[in-house]
Amino acid sequence: MSQLAPLLFASALVGGGFLALHHRQPPPPVQPPASLTSTLASPGLAPDNSSDPLLEALRSDLHLQRQLILLFADEGSLKGKDLARALEAGHRLHHDRRDLVHQLNGALLKLCAQASAQRDPEIRHLLGWMEGDPELLDLDRLAFRDTLRILQHGLLKDVTAEGLGLKARLTRDLGTLDRLEHSVDAEYRKVFGGAGQAPLGRRELWEAYVAQLRRRVSIQELLAAVPEAQPAPTSPARPGAELDGSHLPDKVLVLSFDDGPHRLYTEEIEAILLKEHVPALFFEVGRNLGTENAAGQLQLSHLSALTEGLVQAGFVVGNHSYTHAQLSKETGAPLDLEIRETDQLLRAIPGAHSQLFRFPYGARTAVQLKALEAFQLRSVLWNIDSLDWADPVPSSVADRVLKTIAQEKRGIILFHDIHDRAGKVLPILIPKLRAEGYTFAGLDAEGNLRLPKP
Ligand SMILES: [Zn+2]
Repeated sequence: MSQLAPLLFASALVGGGFLALHHRQPPPPVQPPASLTSTLASPGLAPDNSSDPLLEALRSDLHLQRQLILLFADEGSLKGKDLARALEAGHRLHHDRRDLVHQLNGALLKLCAQASAQRDPEIRHLLGWMEGDPELLDLDRLAFRDTLRILQHGLLKDVTAEGLGLKARLTRDLGTLDRLEHSVDAEYRKVFGGAGQAPLGRRELWEAYVAQLRRRVSIQELLAAVPEAQPAPTSPARPGAELDGSHLPDKVLVLSFDDGPHRLYTEEIEAILLKEHVPALFFEVGRNLGTENAAGQLQLSHLSALTEGLVQAGFVVGNHSYTHAQLSKETGAPLDLEIRETDQLLRAIPGAHSQLFRFPYGARTAVQLKALEAFQLRSVLWNIDSLDWADPVPSSVADRVLKTIAQEKRGIILFHDIHDRAGKVLPILIPKLRAEGYTFAGLDAEGNLRLPKP
């Protein structure tokens, strides 16, 4: 399969470390941090002998989804230290999964651009695995939506008989996923009814899936790798330097979307927000926007047009680092580079630069907060976490947000625009929260609250 792409997924599924990714292209200007893969538990999937790097990447992605589901399977009973541990371990998995999906999507799009003779057998091979491999559990397939959507996107303009045939199959597969998601979502709604209501019955489909996962996947090593004492978030370097939403006026909410722009989901979310007249913040990862070449010139990527579109539509955009590194571990020049590269890329996109910065995973100490000051940037965190990256069930994500809002009464809500979850949750949440008297506000480029005009 070496003809597929300049990317080679080197996957050693036994013994961990299966996310190592090798580039043949020149490295980007900022090196991603050392992989956290040594913390991954031993995979519950048998090694694949086909030596197909794309299939290996899909299996790795599935394994990460399985681990995330198990981490939060007992979310309701997780408290204090246990919850902090699950969140920390989840962030590590999420970090690996983001990198993997980023590279996988690039490789899939390259595959789609190839001649039918090379492309079609590989795509059929991947679809065959996703549709019918006996090692897969039914609800595992919830992990495949993004891959199917990317393939569909990659084949969009292909009107050959072969291309149309593949697209028909992708549409069928996505239909199957819709039905699967609908059944597990409907089950959630039936059991929980709504925020604050006592559960009626059990989530049978979901609980059976979790029970099957527990027999296949262990998260003990993953949890054991998380240090016991978590550093408590430090106080800001100067008062007012950091916003987290907890001091907003009563019943005021600010939506934020991290990790984009994404070729499929950013515009889907933008369209929902525009239709509902809801302002929002988008925190962009610099490497999605472009690179700086050896001569120091910025080269914007085609995805940067999505960011420009957000700005033109009236949304405020902020800096979310260049590689999405855990910046609490960075100091000096590497830290400055993570901040500066994205700062410069945003300055190169008309109207996109703001003073807003969001630390990946919210990970920062006084050192990193101080570094922001040199760039005249302001840290914006959140107090309402949707955990949309860990939960494939839209109603469950919506319920989590509603429950947290019921406690907090105000705040900044964290979503992501790199998968389809937020786009499914917003149409449930926005009308419901408005009916409860909440107002959706925005922040301006300096971080000042902007309430909607009455
Ligand atoms: Zn992020």
